[in-house]
Amino acid sequence: MDPEREEELREIRERRREQERRRKIKEHAVITIVLLAVIAAGAVIYSGYHRTASIAKSASPSASEGVADASSQQAEPAEEQQAEQDAASSASQEAQAEQNTASLNQEQLSLAGDRSVFAVDPANVPSDFDDNGEKTIYLTFDDGPSENTRKVLDILDQYNAKATFFVTGLHQEYKDMIKEAYDRGHTIGLHTYSHNYAAVYQSEDAYFSDLDQIGQLVESEIGYVPCFIRFPGGSSNTVSKKYTAGIMTQLSKDVTAKGYQYYDWNVSFGDGTTRTAEDIISIATGGTQTNIVMLAHDASGKDTTVEALPTVLQYYTDQGYVFKSIDRDSIVVHHGINN
Ligand SMILES: [Zn+2]
Repeated sequence: MDPEREEELREIRERRREQERRRKIKEHAVITIVLLAVIAAGAVIYSGYHRTASIAKSASPSASEGVADASSQQAEPAEEQQAEQDAASSASQEAQAEQNTASLNQEQLSLAGDRSVFAVDPANVPSDFDDNGEKTIYLTFDDGPSENTRKVLDILDQYNAKATFFVTGLHQEYKDMIKEAYDRGHTIGLHTYSHNYAAVYQSEDAYFSDLDQIGQLVESEIGYVPCFIRFPGGSSNTVSKKYTAGIMTQLSKDVTAKGYQYYDWNVSFGDGTTRTAEDIISIATGGTQTNIVMLAHDASGKDTTVEALPTVLQYYTDQGYVFKSIDRDSIVVHHGINN
């Protein structure tokens, strides 16, 4: 082969090698671009999934903790969104609370206005002894106020239940609870200041002197002396016989002559003596009357009464009863005099 032809062939081979090299570079470039595109697409999808998972987790407290490994950058937008949602919902809750407070104040004002007619008045003694035909419970708490009164009030609020408190003057440190109960829409009645059987049943004068004392205390809290009273031990008590024979016969007539009405009860919590919450629930849920006047105690130490109260409220609510505070038209329940 002549040298010229040899040179020509060598050049052709070199040109082909060069072409081959360029083709391979192009191929690599295309593959690299495609790979990069796939990775980028994967990253976008991955990020989108995590954002969704992160939002889902914020919305559902029961979501598995396994989703929590999202990077802080991905989590942030979701948290901001959640924070905004929380702020919006908190603002609307505040507005709702303000509305509720406004309507509650309105209700309290109108109740307060109406309730001044509960003042003792000899010309107007409550005397309706018939039930009102509607399942109603007049829940009454004796011997307070005490450290248990606020707990009772909070539970009553939870069940939207109204009650009546026959108060004493035994715990001056809790006398603010009388106004607190009244302002929350409950009725205040008188139970005597000292709740001392030996003192109050010593004589009629002793009884009325004590009744005046608790009347003044209540007046200083709510603005008037209420006409609703409950005798210590109820009107049927026989313990008074030990101090004055026939005093309940006399007192029951005289209180109404002075404008008061006394209320006994037809169902009891049985919490006059110390009992477990279970026993109280069993006793208190035995009422079947259309109108129930129910005896309970919010005195110091009546912790099992507080414990039993929600179950009793729920039980009667489920039975279709409404819990109301005593007013001038409520059923009057009298036991019968035994002394
Ligand atoms: Zn009592």
